[in-house]
Amino acid sequence: MPLSSSLSPLNRDFRDYLLRRLETQGRRQRFRGESRDEFEVWQTQARETLARTLRMPDELDALELVREPVSTGAQPWDWGHMDDSVHVERLCYTTFPGVRASAFLLVPAGATANTPAMLCPPGHGRGMNQVLFEHGAYRHYPFELARRGFVAMVPEHLSFGERVPSHFGEHGYYTGVAQLLGFTMYGVYIRELMRAVDVLASLPETDATQIGCYGLSLGGSTTLLLSALDLRIRAVGISGFLTSFRSTFIDVGHCVCGNVQDLALEFEHIDIASLIAPRPLVVESGRGDTGFPVDAATATVAELKKRYALFDREDRLAHDVFDGGHEISGHMAYGWFDRWLKE
Ligand SMILES: [Zn+2]
Repeated sequence: MPLSSSLSPLNRDFRDYLLRRLETQGRRQRFRGESRDEFEVWQTQARETLARTLRMPDELDALELVREPVSTGAQPWDWGHMDDSVHVERLCYTTFPGVRASAFLLVPAGATANTPAMLCPPGHGRGMNQVLFEHGAYRHYPFELARRGFVAMVPEHLSFGERVPSHFGEHGYYTGVAQLLGFTMYGVYIRELMRAVDVLASLPETDATQIGCYGLSLGGSTTLLLSALDLRIRAVGISGFLTSFRSTFIDVGHCVCGNVQDLALEFEHIDIASLIAPRPLVVESGRGDTGFPVDAATATVAELKKRYALFDREDRLAHDVFDGGHEISGHMAYGWFDRWLKE
């Protein structure tokens, strides 16, 4: 239910004040030009502003990577959706100085070199194990990608899954402490995902020039931000997220860990997504996804199409509006990545 329909009159006063602030001071970085040349200049400047706003930690350790095969018989999860066409590994790799991250890696059987790769960042929930093994919103999509011939990596975000500091209560602990120490947690997520791209690019099986990213919900927002900033991402799938700050975090109410200080003052979703153009992007919107309304997604995609038109590449933008909720569709996305990453 939108917040506006459940607020008392006194609370509505302040919400209306916030909306006036959004309307008068939001989207400082929006593109105001007309030509492709102006747009490309804008993209370079806007990327710098976005990176600065995210307040990412700068320092990364030298990359160290450990790969270990996962024995299906020794794991507690349901492997019923698996088959021998995909090998599963656990990865452990360095990110910030002294910090290790974990991930699952799915490798198509027989892959040896020049294999396209997909990064699959998890949403807000139970982390990489949920994405791979629970039945539900994710529909085991990394397995589907691997069956189709992609190396698929599912990294664990800090704050979720096996990287949640549960003895401090809940995942928001890191969000708060990051703010105390000069970061945003989204900045931490995106810097770690850039390192995950380093990992994918370093694998002997992969083609470092054919890496995509596809995620749902918080995984959709991290896909959006990573792809906006990191040009190594060559094809993009954003599911259950791309709409607007106005229609989601401001009008609906989400976990506070999704907010980045000042971000809506600088950018709307459309402005961040414009940094992906003209790289191929498929957007997924479930008609029943009340947290990320389909009407807002449709309006954003329509405006985004004008950016792709500057490059005469409207064919590189697709919108899968499907009968479903807050979940992966895949109806267009699987073919989309086949088309754009297997050239
Ligand atoms: Zn949260």
